[in-house]
Amino acid sequence: KSTTVPNIDGSLNNTEEEDEEDVVDLAANSLLNKLIRQSLVESSHRVEVLQKDPSSPLYSVKTFEELRLKEELLKGIYAMGFNRPSKIQEMALPMMLAHPPQNLIAQSQSGTGKTAAFVLAMLSRVNVLELFPQCLCLAPTYELALQTGRVVERMGKFCVDVQVMYAIRGNRIPRGTDITKQIIIGTPGTVLDWCFKRKLIDLTKIRVFVLDEADVMIDTQGFSDQSIRIQRALSSECQMLLFSATFEDSVWQFAERIIPDPNVIKLRKEELTLNNIRQYYVLCGNRKDKYQALCNIYGGITIGQAIIFCQTRRNAKWLTVEMMQDGHQVSLLSGELTVEQRASIIQRFRDGKEKVLITTNVCARGIDVKQVTIVVNFDLPVNQAQEPDYETYLHRIGRTGRFGKKGLAFNMIEVDKLPLLMKIQDHFNNSIKQLDPEDMDEIE
Ligand code: ADP
Repeated sequence: KSTTVPNIDGSLNNTEEEDEEDVVDLAANSLLNKLIRQSLVESSHRVEVLQKDPSSPLYSVKTFEELRLKEELLKGIYAMGFNRPSKIQEMALPMMLAHPPQNLIAQSQSGTGKTAAFVLAMLSRVNVLELFPQCLCLAPTYELALQTGRVVERMGKFCVDVQVMYAIRGNRIPRGTDITKQIIIGTPGTVLDWCFKRKLIDLTKIRVFVLDEADVMIDTQGFSDQSIRIQRALSSECQMLLFSATFEDSVWQFAERIIPDPNVIKLRKEELTLNNIRQYYVLCGNRKDKYQALCNIYGGITIGQAIIFCQTRRNAKWLTVEMMQDGHQVSLLSGELTVEQRASIIQRFRDGKEKVLITTNVCARGIDVKQVTIVVNFDLPVNQAQEPDYETYLHRIGRTGRFGKKGLAFNMIEVDKLPLLMKIQDHFNNSIKQLDPEDMDEIE
């Protein structure tokens, strides 16, 4: 049985049997990223800024003091251990805090400080003497809404009169209640309901509107339209801010529909590369052979930590049992676990409590464990058309150039899958050498 995070409507994404593949759930991945985040993610790129009025001066700040924040807010920021604005915050904060308010579309990968930036903007614009909703933040799931709420609570620790409320399914508010909390964080469906049907929130009084995780948002049926309906009812003085970790055309089109006259800030992601990875493949007859080859590799070279990718849950489970029976310390990460359970497994692995992590596609992206020396594709990543999934291949074994220690990658290939591997080799224009698993000396 599957126990993935329920959607807002209470349904489950994954009810498949165990031999099915784990679908990548954007919202779950985003939450996982937040749960395992340890610090700011750096980027070597420059922040790109596109001002709505190119002739107006462009400010950036190097310290939080320059922002002239309320004393209690500054205290909250320092209490969180922030010393200086992140790269994206240097540019974004002056725009977000400007008078008159300016609209902003900002894109940078997760972990670069977007949430902290808009939480700061909301907290600085709240008037504590007014007891009604003044800031509204839309998030794709209730778990993500709660995460943002926690940041508001931490950063606003010394802003004693500022309060947060969650407009999420299950938070039942009696009819006729007067909402006195200033910051509302919620999912589009429930917010819409609270605004239009139940008239709990007066949208014309909202001063800051935030649409967070726009890429995840548009991936969910109905959320774009609901968000746009909410946005249309805001006053023209309301500041509108949109954030996204990625920026495909679809996100961009949505952003331009929902944010009028925006400034745009972008911080490009550190590119993944296969250049500092030595890639090998081993030809195998069947699953047992693959396992034997894996054992030979294991016996033949000194391995720090390894991640092994399987295409299905069943294969992952089988391999886990085999390895455990042979006395290896392994843990299994697959889509039937809750996001919290996944986070704790990744944390244990990071702490070195297990040497081997076996996983399906649930964690191809995002987890970055620096001490991993080898990655094994026990199955090659393929898409539904049974063509190679190049993106996933890159995410599994690629490293960013800057942090790239040399890595090793092994592909276990059944003979009939060899053409797929050759396509991958051609696609990345990077050689993948055949390895005789009986002879590890080939690995220089
Ligand atoms: P994003 O929303 O882009 O994913 P977050 O705002 O959640 O990024 O920030 C990522 C991590 O970095 C969080 O743990 C957050 O507390 C921390 N962080 C954010 N801004 C700063 C800063 N200026 N200095 C230090 N840490 C920061």
